[in-house]
Amino acid sequence: MTLIFDGHNDVLTKLARSGGAAAAPGFIEGLEGQLDLPRAKEGGFGGGFFAIWAESPGVLDAPGPRPGQYDLPMPPEIPETAAWEMIRAEARTMLELDRLGALRLCRTVAEIEAAREAGMLAGVLHLEGAEGLDAELARLEELYALGLRSLGPVWSRPNPFGHGVPFRYPSDGDIGPGLTERGRALVARCDALGVLVDLSHLNMEGMRDVAAISTRPLVATHSNAHAVAPHARNLTDAQLAVIAGTGGVVGLNFECSFLRPDGQPDADVPEAAVLAMLGHLLDRLGEEGVAIGSDYDGCDPPYWLDRVEKLPALVRLMERAGYPAARIERICWGNWMRVLRETWGH
Ligand code: ZN
Repeated sequence: MTLIFDGHNDVLTKLARSGGAAAAPGFIEGLEGQLDLPRAKEGGFGGGFFAIWAESPGVLDAPGPRPGQYDLPMPPEIPETAAWEMIRAEARTMLELDRLGALRLCRTVAEIEAAREAGMLAGVLHLEGAEGLDAELARLEELYALGLRSLGPVWSRPNPFGHGVPFRYPSDGDIGPGLTERGRALVARCDALGVLVDLSHLNMEGMRDVAAISTRPLVATHSNAHAVAPHARNLTDAQLAVIAGTGGVVGLNFECSFLRPDGQPDADVPEAAVLAMLGHLLDRLGEEGVAIGSDYDGCDPPYWLDRVEKLPALVRLMERAGYPAARIERICWGNWMRVLRETWGH
């Protein structure tokens, strides 16, 4: 089976809703929703980025139909202490998953490859939205010591580091100011530590700021192409060109409103639409710049791809489209390894 390394999932937030670290054994036994260990094995999910995120109440619950144009209000800022408590608790859940043998928390590509060899899931700890971090970034060091190796400065809401993009259609990410001074300091510190800085959820100015500071390949772990689906969460061709110029990677997001040209949260997405999105990303980023960023447990995917055990349908789709085996391997695994090696330095 073709193994997939995945750029984003929100299973730690799902576990947070049912007890956090105490609920971690459920991941091994089987959970409701889109991702757990038994079904990961079934679907060829070899691991990926596991996000820790301070949850805005109610946001991920069914948003309902959004006919035509829409502009969902951005949730309010989450105070630093409240955000820190949530992300620290989710980091503890990740450590518990590692302790239970559900996955291996990985800090290097060698550790990811060793986990794969051992038939274990490889987990990379990712912070989605930095609002829990203090101005001096002492908590960044604390999370780094726990294993954090990837960070998005913002989720889709404002915080002291920058401004996220709203769930708005049609729109691009040109919606306001970029990173704050604190945000620029955070990116510089991540760059020095070798922590991947994720562009997904950042607005256009924020991406420009990251590009100006970062010395590493630019990465959007779970975003799509705006030219195909003009949602504010997707990247314009100009942004994709900048990413390609750094040898960066974009992970294909399965959220149907980021895949569909009409931006609707309708899971009836034909396979051809996913192929069109992949084709555009490949066109703009090249074969070494496209990967997978499912967003499982944080999005509404096409019905034929809406649970981790259905991942082989995506592999078969690429095979039927005539993608050579080497290209499929890069998209499913190799491109993440290349960019992580270049970012982390090992
Ligand atoms: Zn996200």
